[in-house]
Amino acid sequence: MRDKDLYGQVLGLVKPWEVKEVKLSMEELKVEIWVEWPKGKEVACPECGELCVTHDHREERSWRHLDTCQFKTIIHCRMPRAKCPSHGINTIKVAWAEAHSRFTNMFERFAIDMLQASQNRDKAREILKISWDEINHIMGKAVQRGLKRRRAEPIEYLGIDEKNFRKGHSYITVLSDLKGGRVIEVAEDREKESVSMVWGSLTQEQKDKVRAIAMDMWPAFINSAGEYLPNSDIVHDKFHISKHLGKAVDKVRYKENKMLIKEEIDFLKGTKYLWLKKKDNWTEGERNKFQELKNEQLDVGRAWSIKELFTKFWAYNYKTSARKFFKRWYFWATHSRLKPIIEVAKMIKEHLSNILTYLKHRITNAVAEGLNSKIQQIKATARGFRNFDNYRIAILFHCGKLSLYPQ
Ligand SMILES: [Zn+2]
Repeated sequence: MRDKDLYGQVLGLVKPWEVKEVKLSMEELKVEIWVEWPKGKEVACPECGELCVTHDHREERSWRHLDTCQFKTIIHCRMPRAKCPSHGINTIKVAWAEAHSRFTNMFERFAIDMLQASQNRDKAREILKISWDEINHIMGKAVQRGLKRRRAEPIEYLGIDEKNFRKGHSYITVLSDLKGGRVIEVAEDREKESVSMVWGSLTQEQKDKVRAIAMDMWPAFINSAGEYLPNSDIVHDKFHISKHLGKAVDKVRYKENKMLIKEEIDFLKGTKYLWLKKKDNWTEGERNKFQELKNEQLDVGRAWSIKELFTKFWAYNYKTSARKFFKRWYFWATHSRLKPIIEVAKMIKEHLSNILTYLKHRITNAVAEGLNSKIQQIKATARGFRNFDNYRIAILFHCGKLSLYPQ
């Protein structure tokens, strides 16, 4: 019958494989195809390729294939076992699927494309008509393949960063390749043990060749990098430092506003974002407000100027001049009588040697931040990352730049 030939071609069957039966169910919108290795036909041993006698046929298995004109398409087959004089009895490999898969290769490829295009597991699942377990299974296998195929090429700059996972103080640690713009590994929480685990995804040779690692001032990151990549520079991320300064300015504003309100002065009301922004990013309204407040001798004005001045630090090319600049800035900051500012200034001083490294490498976690927003999106569009493993797989699936397809 011609439909048998047609399905044989669609599945890419090579003789002596043949389609034995095709059953079409209009009620269930389903096509079922029985594929057979004829009894008595010699079969190649999967170990050595030698033609052997067929020992027997295993119990029937099924694979989901790409839909045929919106008909769910299922392949059934009893796979033959070869009896090799050297290797014993082994089930042969089939051309349409990987071992232990419930789906054909073509279906998995399509599912991977679909998941990547939509970035929305919920929607993809609906279109593919498969269960959550099956989605996780396909993604898990794809990532496994990708990690296995990933080559240990040198990585010049790494970024290590934390990301919120669940509500509250729950974090994950993300290791990324800054130039390659990809996630290398993800670990649960951000404590020393997990952080140590992410370095394990690199070979010793790769570790030796990393020039620098961008990170915030989290002790577990610093200590573990020092232990596992002692030859790489640490570069504290400039955006994290700006964030610390911004927070300090905000604390000053909050306290001062509260005191002024008590005296029934409300001109600091609604100015939170004015002080968090750089001068260049002010709106017209914010610029006017600043002009208005400039001569009020405000604490928050002083705090803001100290923060604003520090941005000049990043423009230096030479460590000596940057150090000189810092010394003056530090004097001003620590004599400001603004406790939050003094605290951050001291923290910066303590980490200064790993901040000056920025001038040499000019790296930040900004690339990682881009990946982070993608990670955020993965979390937002997918319900039910109840367990960390599925979350890690989704991150590597979407942000790992891995080769995911089955053969
Ligand atoms: Zn053999």
